[in-house]
Formats: sequence, C-alpha cells, structure tokens
Amino acid sequence: MTYKNFPMVSKVVFGRGSFNQLGDILSPKRLNVKAPFIYIVDDVFQGNSWVTSRIPLAYDDKIYYISANEEPKTSQVDDLVEEIILNYKALPSGIIGIGGGTILDLAKAVSIMLTNEGESKNYQGWDLVKSPAIYHVGIPTISGTGAEVSRTTVLTGPEKKLGINSDFTPFDQVVLDPELTKDVPVDQWFYTGMDCYIHCIESLNGTFLNAFSKSYGEKAYDLCVELFLDNNLTEEEAQDKLMMASWHGGMSIAYSQVGVAHAMSYGLGYLLGTKHGIGNCIVFDHLEEFYPDGVKLFKKMKDKHQIKLPQGICSKLSDKEFDIMIDVALSLEPLWENALGKHWQKTITRSKLKELYLKM
Ligand code: NAD
Ligand code: ZN
Repeated sequence: MTYKNFPMVSKVVFGRGSFNQLGDILSPKRLNVKAPFIYIVDDVFQGNSWVTSRIPLAYDDKIYYISANEEPKTSQVDDLVEEIILNYKALPSGIIGIGGGTILDLAKAVSIMLTNEGESKNYQGWDLVKSPAIYHVGIPTISGTGAEVSRTTVLTGPEKKLGINSDFTPFDQVVLDPELTKDVPVDQWFYTGMDCYIHCIESLNGTFLNAFSKSYGEKAYDLCVELFLDNNLTEEEAQDKLMMASWHGGMSIAYSQVGVAHAMSYGLGYLLGTKHGIGNCIVFDHLEEFYPDGVKLFKKMKDKHQIKLPQGICSKLSDKEFDIMIDVALSLEPLWENALGKHWQKTITRSKLKELYLKM
C-alpha cells in the first residue's frame, strides 16, 4: 500500500478586510517590471469600486473581467493563455483569480497552461501536468465549492467534463476574506453552500473514508447544519463560518472522493450546461436510496430557505442525449467506487441511471 503525498495551499490569510493586504502579499512575488500580475475577476464586480479599487495595479498589470454564467471550458483557457502570451514579453509574475469556483478554476488552469505545452484538454485527468504552474492566488467571493483549497480545476472540454488534477494545481496563496461574499444572492448562496454540504455527505458516507477525511468532513458538516438549519448566526458570523466550511469540505475530499450526486451532476452539466451548485441540488434531491439521512436534512434546508428547484429538466431528452449524460456519469469511476464500493457496476447500470435522470 502506498499513500498519496498531497501538496496543499502554501499560504493562506483569513480575516474580514484581509483583501486590503493584497498589494503587500503580491509585491515580493513580482519577478520584474515586464512580468505582470494578471487578474481574472468575475465580471459581477466590474464597476464595483468597493472591490476593484483594492486591486493593486502597477506596470503592465491587467484585469480580465470574465463572466461566470458558464463554467470554464478548455477552449476558453487556451484562448486566454494565447492572449497573455501574445500581449506580454515575459511570462506573468502571477495569476490572481477573484470570484467563485468558476473563476478560481479558470485562474488555476491558466497558470498551469502558461508553462505547459499544447491544449488544456490534453491535461484533463490525473497527474498529466509536467511543469510547475505560474505563481497563482485564489480569492473566493462565494463559499462552498472548496475550489480554493482543492487539487483540481474542473473544465468542460470537447470530449469530457473533467478536472486537471495535479500537484501543480493548488493555489500558492489564498486570501480568505468573508466580507467579499456579502452580496451573493440568496439562491446562489444556497446552491454553492449545498455543494459543500454534499461534499461532506458523499465523503462521510463513502468507502474511501479515513480519519483524515472524516475529521474535516465532520467539521464542515456541523458548520453546514449550524448555517442552513439552526440559523442563530449574525450575517457576519455566517459569512465567516461558511467560508471555513467550504475549506474543510474541500480538505475532506482531498483524501477521499465525492459520490453519486457529483457523478450525475457532471452528466447534467456536460449535456445541458446545468451549473455545478444547482445541478448537485437537482440530483441530490432524488438520491434518498443512496444517502437517506443526508437527503432528508437537505430537504429540510431547502424548505427552510424556500428554495424552488427546477423540475423536469430531463423530461424531453432523446435517447441519444440520455446516452451522452450516462456516458459522462459512468466515466467517473472513482466517484462510483467511493459511493458504492468495488462492485458498484452491479447496481449502477445504464437503465438505473436513466430512471434516476427521468425523475429530475
Ligand atoms: P460561480 O463561480 O459559478 O458563481 C455563481 C454566481 O455567483 C455567478 O453568477 C457569479 O457571478 C456570482 N457571484 C460570485 N461571487 C459573488 C459575489 N460576491 N456577489 C454577487 N455575486 C457573486 O459559483 P460556484 O458555485 O462558486 O462555482 C461553480 C464552479 O466551481 C463550477 O465550475 C464547478 O465545476 C467548480 N468547482 C470546482 C471545484 C474544484 O475543486 N476545483 C469543486 C467544486 C466546484
Ligand atoms: Zn462539488
């Protein structure tokens, strides 16, 4: 038996208003005046001076405002990398992502592809990256995905939706400033928050569970219950705690895996473009047989916050479309093995998955 030796985020700052320190954090990392810092920022912040006035720009530094309406694509990563290479004489000093999981993943992927040849689709998988990435910094503005702490960057490519999982993927620096999440709309807060809750349920009920994952998963789970059910917190406490729940949830799956909801949600995302947070909720709502207690509690949380999930999103799909979704879901073998054990193929057949998708 050999155990995996994982890298982690090397530096992290936590605190309300810590975003103000970005200039001090970055300045020692500037390689030279020709090597800019490139900021990849969610376009929801364009024109929002409360955020943008604190982004320290000098020399050739540049902000790219990018929409998070669609999740990152390999072609989008490749285009951005090409643009950066064409526009600057030197490789950047750093890539800084400011946004949710979509933007954080884009920043990670761009920092990897600036130093690795070819197209990003060739690196979707496990441990395919050869060279260290450019210094990269993650600044989450919505909490739940764990993308700020994880070893992957999830991309939709021409053939699959799959992460670039590598030792070079984790951020070199993370800035956790819960104040940045203050304007997240309630529905989105719930969907992305539930991503964290579902990470906990899938990790804690998985066959890969071990004391490392359990300790993080239990902490994140308790925080989620406190946040989404008990609800005795001030807004500030809630923002602080959800940011830490996201971190712990991400740490929990580092040494285990996610499960059924993620496998099936990837299928929805690939075919229909359903986003990760809401997609997980749509799927998880129908997974009582796999996660009875987790789903029961999820339904309580959903009611408490009056969240109405879309219904019937698979009702008009053709057989060919079902096949595409089922292929994507089934290809995620480690997720199924974590959820159901080595012999998962006995229970998870194509017709079983179609039956489940038809409920959604
Ligand atoms: P997101 O980044 O897609 O953003 C969701 C919405 O919230 C967007 O409209 C965005 O503009 C808005 N938003 C973000 N911050 C805001 C703020 N402070 N105020 C107002 N609006 C704000 O959402 P997400 O759920 O964080 O990320 C989903 C993505 O994360 C997916 O692409 C998924 O694949 C990825 N993901 C990655 C990992 C990983 O480990 N790398 C894990 C889970 C999910
Ligand atoms: Zn997730």
